[in-house]
Amino acid sequence: MKPKPQSQLLDLLLNSPAHRIAKLPDVDYGQAIVEPFPFLAIVGQLEMKLALILSLINPRVGGVLLIGPRGTAKTTAVRALTDLLPSARRSLCVYGCTEEMLDEGGMDAICENCREKMGYGQPLTVADRVRIIELPLNARLEDVVGGINERIALEQNKVRLERGILGHADNQILYIDEVNLLPDTLTDAILDAAAQGHYTARRGALKLRYRSRFLLIGSMNPEEGKLRPQIMDRFGLRAVVRGLADPAWRYQAYEQVAAHQQNPDHFAASYAEATMALADEIEQARQRLPAVQIGEAARDLGLKLVQELAIDSTRAEITLFEAARAHAAADERKQVEPGDVQAVAMPALRMRQSDHLSRFFAEQEAEDQRMKNIVDEFTNHQ
Ligand SMILES: [Zn+2]
Repeated sequence: MKPKPQSQLLDLLLNSPAHRIAKLPDVDYGQAIVEPFPFLAIVGQLEMKLALILSLINPRVGGVLLIGPRGTAKTTAVRALTDLLPSARRSLCVYGCTEEMLDEGGMDAICENCREKMGYGQPLTVADRVRIIELPLNARLEDVVGGINERIALEQNKVRLERGILGHADNQILYIDEVNLLPDTLTDAILDAAAQGHYTARRGALKLRYRSRFLLIGSMNPEEGKLRPQIMDRFGLRAVVRGLADPAWRYQAYEQVAAHQQNPDHFAASYAEATMALADEIEQARQRLPAVQIGEAARDLGLKLVQELAIDSTRAEITLFEAARAHAAADERKQVEPGDVQAVAMPALRMRQSDHLSRFFAEQEAEDQRMKNIVDEFTNHQ
């Protein structure tokens, strides 16, 4: 059922790392900024890599949750995504004003500074590479949704709400490491913003709406507690990230990490060509995506899977079909085939069944049947 032949994108993704690292010169980098570990140099973890790439191709997949123990390259993989992303417009203003806000809401939608800038014909945003914004574990609700800038309030006797991390994450990637340890109020605020693409910050009479369209990536270590089912449901793909099983792969992973530590620039450079090719393929797949349709056989297979697995949430179909569309786009096709559904079925559908719900509905059905019998009996005897 696997679609053949595979595109360059899938080939790069699934068959890396294809080359061994030559002996590297030893260099002391002191405090210099270290090149991130290249995405394609991560050994194994194909499901995680595929889930992340598909979510870059199609944001409607609904985010990715990486589930696995520590030391399985989850954070490394997320940080490496920066090299694979196209650029996005980023606001130059602390309040997050953009030309888009001006187009939609007029001059009232942007701050005084930006109104002035517009008067001089200056831009409110710049094109910049997409950033990975990592949510600090000790973040407070006001850090996340924003609050009053007290310094400006005191100095200028002017009160404005500053956009929080969610506002800064607009058009970027928001990464929450150990999402299962985050307080519920924060998780709810983040998931609401992720679903709606905007959020409203309130302080007393002040109220301001911020754009917040970001790709949400979470990671969790199941040893450190469960994720509430309603939160779990709201992540699109769930990639299981296990330690590498094959000793040969483990040794290769060790060699890669050692080579990166020894000379990060040289290591990154040895992957630069493949990384650029992958970034280019991802961009082409993004452009191909709007034209990708779901074929009849793929649709039937997807619906059958959801039915057989007795999954209630319609988010299952959304993620399954949107991920399958991204997979077809990655494979340079405009029609989703059953092989695409098969390729994404595990990460799209796992952990969506609930034993508790199944028991609840089974008991409820039994009660309904007893009630219906009684209602029928008495109605018929009238
Ligand atoms: Zn502004």
